[in-house]
Amino acid sequence: MTATFLDRLARTRAQMASVGIDVVLLSVGLDMPWLVGYHAMPLERLTMLVVPREGDVTLVIPRLEAPRVIEMPEVFGLRPWNETDDPVAVTADLVRAHGARTVAVGDQMWSRFLVDLLPLLPGIDWRRAVDVLGPLRMRKDAAEIAALRAAGAAVDRIAGELQAGRIPLVGRTEAEVSADLSARILAEGHDVVNFAIVAAGENAASPHHHPGSRVIRRDEIVLCDFGGTMAGYCSDITRCVFTGEIPSDVAAAYAVLKEAQAASVASATIGASCESIDAAARDIIAAAGYGEYFVHRTGHGIGMDAHEDPYIVSGNTLALADGHAFSIEPGIYLPGQWGMRLEDIVVATVDGPDPMNRVEHSLVRVDA
Ligand code: ZN
Ligand code: ZN
Ligand code: ZN
Repeated sequence: MTATFLDRLARTRAQMASVGIDVVLLSVGLDMPWLVGYHAMPLERLTMLVVPREGDVTLVIPRLEAPRVIEMPEVFGLRPWNETDDPVAVTADLVRAHGARTVAVGDQMWSRFLVDLLPLLPGIDWRRAVDVLGPLRMRKDAAEIAALRAAGAAVDRIAGELQAGRIPLVGRTEAEVSADLSARILAEGHDVVNFAIVAAGENAASPHHHPGSRVIRRDEIVLCDFGGTMAGYCSDITRCVFTGEIPSDVAAAYAVLKEAQAASVASATIGASCESIDAAARDIIAAAGYGEYFVHRTGHGIGMDAHEDPYIVSGNTLALADGHAFSIEPGIYLPGQWGMRLEDIVVATVDGPDPMNRVEHSLVRVDA
């Protein structure tokens, strides 16, 4: 593993040089585990990785948490702090020691630490660490793609059970079905459940509906969007089922959605812009008259974070490269009536788009 982290550090430094950043500061969030394998505890005691463009990388860490660290002296050193030390001052000293003028901070560093750090480092040009790490983290290597594929296969099996009618729906609340999906996500080998949206009938028209006490009935659509983190990498899938005879208006809209999603997946070839992949789905949905009911972007990058670069959205001219991983999840939402979304995770490869989800894409009628 040390070789992996040394390679990531070298690429991080090359990127720092190319975007003109002297020091990167990482705390809470997944940039740090990607870079050095350690995941900071999201607590009031500061953990901070100080990454200079040249010189030693230092992990400033509460002394009581130092035993959690898997040490890799070739990659980083430890600077444990005691309960009465000021870890923000320790961080500022390290930044000063490197003579930094431009410092990038991780998106999820707590404001309280940044607010304390700013006056200690006057004259610094502050930037976001995503400028450095975003472009690197979005290119997945073979091991990362294997992890995404394993997580995808796990949620595919759950979606298969849903479509086979082996997950009871009618008469249960959305919250009960959500808890059932969550238990299955863990049973399938995920370490964490990230979300398990279950939205029935008119509730499915709210893309991020919070599953509640609404009881699922016969003859309605049930949208399930769920995922978790397995061995550090995320799954995320959406499938819809129908608890009865599918009415013709719903079937017609779903046919458009399915065609749009498939066209978008097929368009996800190396060199295609992210916005063109969004347009591939959106144009088909708009041409069928549902354009105003597709209210969100087509997708988001995925990896260690459930949402990360690259975003599949109009205005993003980034060209897809080998190893980019992202969702393709168009939807059609008719307020007060029903909603539908179809989502797969796809990896761009030299051999074309490689879907991590392969379970049935149709709107399946279930007796469950
Ligand atoms: Zn979403
Ligand atoms: Zn999703
Ligand atoms: Zn998603």
